Amino acid sequence: MKRIAVVEKDRCNPEGCGGYLCIKKSPLNRMGIEAIVKGPDGKAQINEDLANDTLQVVVNVCPFNAIHMVKLPDHLTTRPIHRYGKDQFILYSLPTPTFGKVVGIIGVNGIGKSTAIKILASSIKPNLGDAEKEESDIDELIKLFKGTEMQIFMEKFKKKEIIVSYKPQEVELIQKNAKGKVKELLDKVNETKKLKEVIEILELDNILDNDINKISGGEMQRVAIAATVLKKANLYIFDEPSSFLDIKQRLKIARFIRDLADEDTSVLVIEHDLIVMDYMADLVNIMYGKEKVYGIVSQLKPAKTGMNAYLEGYLKDDNVRFRDHKIKFEVRSSDKEKKKDVRFEWPAMEKKLGNFTLKSNAGNIHNQEVIGILGPNGIGKTTFMKLLAGVETPDTGKLETTATISYKPQNLASDSEELVMNVLKQTIQYHTNDIIDPLNLKDLFTRQLKQLSGGELQRVAVAEALGKKADIILLDEPSAYLDTEQRLKISKIIRNVADTTGKAILIVDHDLVFLDYVANRLIVFEGQPAREGKQIGPMSMEEGMNLLLKEVQITLRRDDQSGRPRINKLDSVMDRKQKDAGKYYYN
Ligand code: ADP
Ligand code: SF4
Repeated sequence: MKRIAVVEKDRCNPEGCGGYLCIKKSPLNRMGIEAIVKGPDGKAQINEDLANDTLQVVVNVCPFNAIHMVKLPDHLTTRPIHRYGKDQFILYSLPTPTFGKVVGIIGVNGIGKSTAIKILASSIKPNLGDAEKEESDIDELIKLFKGTEMQIFMEKFKKKEIIVSYKPQEVELIQKNAKGKVKELLDKVNETKKLKEVIEILELDNILDNDINKISGGEMQRVAIAATVLKKANLYIFDEPSSFLDIKQRLKIARFIRDLADEDTSVLVIEHDLIVMDYMADLVNIMYGKEKVYGIVSQLKPAKTGMNAYLEGYLKDDNVRFRDHKIKFEVRSSDKEKKKDVRFEWPAMEKKLGNFTLKSNAGNIHNQEVIGILGPNGIGKTTFMKLLAGVETPDTGKLETTATISYKPQNLASDSEELVMNVLKQTIQYHTNDIIDPLNLKDLFTRQLKQLSGGELQRVAVAEALGKKADIILLDEPSAYLDTEQRLKISKIIRNVADTTGKAILIVDHDLVFLDYVANRLIVFEGQPAREGKQIGPMSMEEGMNLLLKEVQITLRRDDQSGRPRINKLDSVMDRKQKDAGKYYYN
């Protein structure tokens, strides 16, 4: 059985560990075998070929958890596609772009999804696992995929017949480096001459003259999607296209992305919102393995069976179990609506900000309650949160409360050099068992905020907000950048904090599966974005979901096998039946 060793170089801190602690403690090094050495970059470097079982002890020796040693599964007999370095992450196989189809890629963060699509987008040249080699010969790759769909794709690739257009995950980074107005940027990339059509579909009309670095996250996401589709290409790749978009926009871009696929065009999408993925993808590739160490890509599967296999954690065709538990979507228990004492009340309020007016109903939130907040972008959800948090003062209505509030904003991009352990001081003091440990945050303690990935930053920010001494916690889009498993984990942690501390929690989010799991009641916002917003509720989950789904004219059912919510096909028997009964939301 082959073993792989990975040293996370950005975590390895030889000074911090007292000087190459792993080398000092390595039983092999003590016997004169140089299994771990000081690498050219000054960090620890493991010589995998010299490693054996006894070296496993160093994994626990490193105070920064920088070392991983894992045995590869027996069934894995293929050659790797790429290895980042001698003791770095390895990717086995690639997703399969298919003409005429949208192929979804699902898997946890750190399993190699972005690596795989960067290879397909030619921004990483694969080395077939030989880290010493600059890049491999394309013919070698073709040979590797002989007899598969991928061989045909690679041959086209070789003949330069594949032209890729790619939307990366973190749109904030594009924004940071871009200058000028939205229109100027889109004009520059308008190869397909479909600018007018794309502006209309993606509703960009109102922001064309805005400076690119002044638009919101949801607007930037739509601009990035527009720029991607305006390029002439036959392989379009989208890394998490739904982040920061509201449900209406998610459905719209899902349809738009689906329509891009035709006999000459293939589309690949990474997406963690299960409802959106289900709506978009024809086929899926599942990626599994061990985060940060190695990733394997499954065969292509029809979307429904593939997504259910992913949730199940089991690939029947290959007889591979890649997770020791199923991801389950439990049916709502009636306990979710049990009333506790009121913790916080707000009056009917009005607030005018420039051309925008927000009107809110009087409402309350109970002890131990989680209220989900749904509605389009630009409709006043954040303004409402700020009124509750006392950051803004209402024009009419007076908020009389001494309640303290902890608030996690939507945008987290950070240049801060502050260490994670300092940011999480209060959480570490009171919530090690119920927040820090389940979110694996100890591993991040010694890192600076600016070194964290989107998903890591999100976990830290949610943990910080949940752990602060406050009566009410407001979370603005906590699911962004988290994978499906992390979303489920975070929703369990949020529920647990509410139940054990009695705190009341309000969450703005657009992932219906996530809100469905975590919330007791819903607030829905209606109106005209950037003009006027009205807050309705809080009301029961069923009432709130019905209101929202009716507006977007979709009905949801539960998948009979996995229990996950799915969108009914428009005008299908189920869709019509549910619409006639006024039941847009399953119960
Ligand atoms: P995903 O997209 O599934 O979240 P990624 O492809 O981004 O996964 O990352 C897979 C693994 O590869 C991670 O452990 C990541 O840290 C590592 N990795 C990514 N880029 C590099 C690089 N340039 N050098 C070394 N390791 C990298
Ligand atoms: Fe020290 Fe860990 Fe780096 Fe080894 S891997 S040198 S123990 S920080």
